[in-house]
Amino acid sequence: MKLKRDNRVVILVICIILICTVTSLGFKTHGEVEEIVQEQFNEQQLLLARQASLGIAGFADERVTIIEILARDRSCDEIDNLTRCFKTIYEETSGFYSIEFIEPNGVVVYGYPEDRAPIGYDLYAENRSSAFDSARDSRKTKISRPTPLFEGGLGSFIWVPVYEGEDFRGVILAIIRMSTITDRFLTPIMQNRTGYVYMIDHKGKSLYDGAKREAIGKNYLKMLNENNRSDGWLKILNEQMNGSEGTAVYLKEGDESQSEQIVAYAPVRWRNQLWSVAISVPASEVDHLIRSVYAKQMIFLGTVIAIILGGSLGLIMMFSRWNKTLEAEVKSKNADMIRMNKELVLANKRLKELDKLKSDFVSMVSHELKTPLAAMRTSAQVLNMRDAGEKTKAEMLDIILRNIDRQTNLVNDLLDLSRIESGRMKLKMGCVSLDSVIADSIESVKQAAIEKGIKLNVELPEDISSVKADRERLTQVIINLLNNAIKFTPRSGEISIKTRELNGQVEVKVSDTGTGIPAEDLDKVFEKFYQADSTLTREAGGTGLGLAICRGIIEAHNGHIWAESELGKGSTFIFRLEKWVSGKAG
Ligand code: ADP
Repeated sequence: MKLKRDNRVVILVICIILICTVTSLGFKTHGEVEEIVQEQFNEQQLLLARQASLGIAGFADERVTIIEILARDRSCDEIDNLTRCFKTIYEETSGFYSIEFIEPNGVVVYGYPEDRAPIGYDLYAENRSSAFDSARDSRKTKISRPTPLFEGGLGSFIWVPVYEGEDFRGVILAIIRMSTITDRFLTPIMQNRTGYVYMIDHKGKSLYDGAKREAIGKNYLKMLNENNRSDGWLKILNEQMNGSEGTAVYLKEGDESQSEQIVAYAPVRWRNQLWSVAISVPASEVDHLIRSVYAKQMIFLGTVIAIILGGSLGLIMMFSRWNKTLEAEVKSKNADMIRMNKELVLANKRLKELDKLKSDFVSMVSHELKTPLAAMRTSAQVLNMRDAGEKTKAEMLDIILRNIDRQTNLVNDLLDLSRIESGRMKLKMGCVSLDSVIADSIESVKQAAIEKGIKLNVELPEDISSVKADRERLTQVIINLLNNAIKFTPRSGEISIKTRELNGQVEVKVSDTGTGIPAEDLDKVFEKFYQADSTLTREAGGTGLGLAICRGIIEAHNGHIWAESELGKGSTFIFRLEKWVSGKAG
């Protein structure tokens, strides 16, 4: 139990140390993760801005190139041809608001789509010929700063001069609507996101503003000055106007509160134009991202801790189970030891009993040998006396003969027992009639019974079956039982012998009204040399071999013998033998 508790404590301590280590590592990495996420986020925003800038520049430049190619194409010299070309370009190339042709006198003579072309518009008359003049004089494409269109919104004007040799033929004016560019490259950036995109030209004029449409076309610098604001955004605007790229944070003043904005900006370089795209998102988006990374980190940490806890719990349970098994094993071993101890005590007791039996046997045998010898010696001495009368001599001879019988019986008993124990007892099996065996046995003991005034009752059913037995040995058993009954029954007692049949067997019962046998001795009386009460037995005589021989003989017949008794009221010895079945050889 102590070991069990110690194990639990050790596992718990290890578990706590592991959790602390994992948690501190988690906190340490959290700071680093925050920095990395911030950097990654800025980088990503900048990439988006760059991508948009490059897209816009590429798109616009492609349109300029198309118009330049058209201007050099001789097949479009004639106005009719131009008409056809404008239409084709307009329809095949997306993004043009209109394409017009202005003659050297500054008058718009053609345009496509026709409803968008101000035919007859005279640049000189309207005093708006500077870009036209510049294109003509420089013989190069001129792109003017995005300016408001009649229809609203801003447009980028591309002036491409048309020369035929040294002959100035006019200018193709292609207008790209700013909203076409912004719809394509800037609006999609903010889809499903918070924040906004804006684009300025090199003077700080808003070309696009995803948050404040009304600001488009106005100058942010002017607006900031008007509002008397000189915040971080001004710095960013200046950087943008310089054509730099980068990321910066500024405090955006909202209606009620100030919120941090992260701005990523990248320049759009398109011919002589310098614009700048900026993506402005609330700094809270990074927090959002960090929180989500943190949440994932937490889930990971939680999983690790859960695994550690689960593992520890598993270990604790495993140890507990081991302990329980061990305890159970110890308990069962203990029980085994107790049982073995008891068995040892019993065996010891039994050994002591056997030792006593042996001593008793030795004294009994000595007694049984000495007594007849002493009697025979005395009788012989008397016989040897000259004056011994004839009657005395006859008595002495009788004593000698009886004692010789007594010793012969003892030796025979010992020999029988030895045969039984060594399995050398030979049985002459045959059909034995119980009537005759019992009659012979009674005949042998009758005299002794009469001498003691004991009545012998015999109850034999007339048709009792014969048994399969060795007649001589069976007679030996019954005589032995009858002799014992006579020996242990006081004068005027009764002895009865009964037989009955049951389940293919025949039962023989020898009962007496004698001393009886204590219950605890009922089995022991069949053991060799065992005598239930040595004092009484001594008086009665005997060797303690008779019943052991009886059991040996009955068991050699595959039979069974046992005793029943009530102390002081008498004993019954019962044995059962197989019935003789004719035709069935033994
Ligand atoms: P023994 O020669 O002593 O009679 P047995 O083996 O025949 O030897 O009997 C063993 C013991 O069993 C006897 O000493 C006696 O104590 C007991 N015993 C046997 N038969 C009877 C009986 N009919 N009545 C009472 N005790 C008996």
